[in-house]
Amino acid sequence: MDAAASTAPNAEKALYIQLGLDKTLAPKDGHWANNDAENAFKAWIKNLEDMMKFCCNKYPNEFGMMCNAKIKVATDFDVTNKPSPADPRNPSYNDDDDQEKLSKGLKNIKTKYPDGIRVMMTQAQIVSAAVVKSANGTLVPIKVGLGGITYNTKVGNTGEIIPTESGTVITVKPGVEGRHAEPDPNTLSHELGHRAGYDKGDIDNNSHSSDRKNLMHPSSKAADTPDHCWCDKISKLLK
Ligand SMILES: [Zn+2]
Repeated sequence: MDAAASTAPNAEKALYIQLGLDKTLAPKDGHWANNDAENAFKAWIKNLEDMMKFCCNKYPNEFGMMCNAKIKVATDFDVTNKPSPADPRNPSYNDDDDQEKLSKGLKNIKTKYPDGIRVMMTQAQIVSAAVVKSANGTLVPIKVGLGGITYNTKVGNTGEIIPTESGTVITVKPGVEGRHAEPDPNTLSHELGHRAGYDKGDIDNNSHSSDRKNLMHPSSKAADTPDHCWCDKISKLLK
């Protein structure tokens, strides 16, 4: 326990989020124009509260302050300076160009909370390249739709990994190529795990867990729960 925590163990802490909407989620009169998006966002915040309470209940000595921690969100409804991906029919964040657009939009989020974690929300798809084994055993490249992505690095021209500005985008349309899926309520909790530096998983360079019931599984679902590392990293985001 550090000095600040030991002098004020019950001081109420909060997780501050600066939410931005890109142009795909243009609001009406300064409010949400898309009920599905607003409801998805509420479900993400509720899940994050539940995950923090889980940490508090499972590890009360270490993370007791997470039971009373608040999540404070300030939403910037100005979408004019938050570009969305180029293709209006099938917009997706899937390459460095789109990553640059995302960084620009993230920088433009008005900050009510100076240290707030900036998160962009979109109705565009988020697409990632993957390789799967076909029935006859050959490897086939496919595209998968993600619920969210957090950039900490990008891949250079010769395949090198370049550290980049951190950014998170989450989508209300996680399906891809005509297949529509509902957003998972734990997308934000999972992505904030990456953002906070989750590094005790057993796959993907320790950035994910292979445990199907772990929030940091690559395809984690609503009922999954966080492990000690997630609790620890997220607790350090509380101010
Ligand atoms: Zn992940």
